[in-house]
Amino acid sequence: MNYPGHLLVGIIFGAVFALAIGAEPFLFGSIVFVAAFSALVPDIDHDSSKMRQWADLGVPICAFLFSYSAICDGVMCGAENWHPILVNTLAITGLYMIVITYMKPRHRGITHTLAAAGAYGVAIWFFSDWMFGVAGLLGYLSHLFADRMAKLV
Ligand SMILES: [Zn+2]
Repeated sequence: MNYPGHLLVGIIFGAVFALAIGAEPFLFGSIVFVAAFSALVPDIDHDSSKMRQWADLGVPICAFLFSYSAICDGVMCGAENWHPILVNTLAITGLYMIVITYMKPRHRGITHTLAAAGAYGVAIWFFSDWMFGVAGLLGYLSHLFADRMAKLV
């Protein structure tokens, strides 16, 4: 199944959960967003997936922001410390490229298991709260569910 299909199934799973807990509009939207995003995560193991395209773009940007905030505490300091910031950014980006290129799990391998879904849900719960943890878990599970269905049809 390609990404619009997964996105749709993730939105449905998220909306059902948000309805079930009676979320008010803002929370409803946030839950649906988390579930929809999570429905795309398992295909990070696929070279041409939407998730990979986002990660390839997002990782260098996040690496830069992380390096900047780790090394600097003001806007001006970036000009003086551009060298360590650059080295740090390239190091993190390089690590990501090595992992994704040489240690990439085979498609529909480890990222397409219930264990991965559980670990993912717990990680989101840990960094936000239980509702987003459940939304993330449901979105992730919706992906496994949709892949299974697509195989049967
Ligand atoms: Zn998949």
